[in-house]
Amino acid sequence: MKKTTFILVWIAAMFIAPLKAQETASNVVMVLHGGAGTILPEYMTPERQQKITVDLKEALNASYAMWKKDGSSLDMVVAAIKILEDSPEFNAGRGAVFTHEGHNELDASIMSGKDLNAGAVAGVSTVKNPIETARAVMESSPHVLLSREGAEAFAERQGLEMADSSWFYTEDRYKSLQRALDEEKKNGAVETPVDAKMGTVGAVAVDREGNISAGTSTGGMTNKRWARIGDSPVIGAGTYADNRTCGVSCTGHGEYFIRVAAAHSVHARMMFNEQTVADATKAVIDELGSMNAPGGLIALDADGNAVMVFNTVGMYRAYITTDGTIEVRFYEMISEDR
Ligand code: ASP
Repeated sequence: MKKTTFILVWIAAMFIAPLKAQETASNVVMVLHGGAGTILPEYMTPERQQKITVDLKEALNASYAMWKKDGSSLDMVVAAIKILEDSPEFNAGRGAVFTHEGHNELDASIMSGKDLNAGAVAGVSTVKNPIETARAVMESSPHVLLSREGAEAFAERQGLEMADSSWFYTEDRYKSLQRALDEEKKNGAVETPVDAKMGTVGAVAVDREGNISAGTSTGGMTNKRWARIGDSPVIGAGTYADNRTCGVSCTGHGEYFIRVAAAHSVHARMMFNEQTVADATKAVIDELGSMNAPGGLIALDADGNAVMVFNTVGMYRAYITTDGTIEVRFYEMISEDR
């Protein structure tokens, strides 16, 4: 993609409306996002769209098979996110964006709405599937958030699959870093690179017992430095789940999502203000919009009501319902099948 394309994407993302799009769906078993900050429709190729669609559907189908066999929402979330982490199309796991120094530093988190248990990792570079490590932190450590070498040592000790840097490398993402560095050289410190936030992934599922789980995984933002950590591994910011209200996964400019405690804020509005999941998510995305913070989020309540909302040009998103119907959307486009 040309540099001008990225500039257009960024300009479009900056001049966001208070609320661009909010969709609801019922009888949903799992809802996914593949990042706000999408490629503008006019620059999306059919091949790229096809690949992203196939991955999102594969993730949904894998989780749906588990749901049918009474699997837990935690298993469903991990299965879906692993598939997206293993795809080079998303900014998570393989395909993660590069840091200023040319590395990949991955963040992920998961939360169980049944018992408010949670786990997360930040800044890991050698773990193949950060979402699995986040789950291991939740289930096999007394902690919630582990970082960098410590988290990697923990993952290794847990017997989780490790990967070297070549696994995470994709040419597109490396070129994005080079463009960001060139820009920085020309114009001094660039606050946020033009194509910084494409493709974080997130999933929220509800199982047959009514337990909700949510997870998020990302490479963060292109050209990040100083061990920057975004909202994705921060419980309450990028991810939250509580059976009494809903599960939430966010994507967007992480610094803002941390400042408004975005994911927890959806929960709190439902819990204490008795708002519906649709009203609560709208209020949070409006608040982010009022701060000019680009992004989006997905949420799912225990009754299977899903909401997808974003204030950017698009957000890769998809869901599957109890009867196996899948919808995949990028912008306002809809593709449907079973
Ligand atoms: N929220 C992520 C971060 O700030 C990026 C994204 O969602 O695209 O690290």
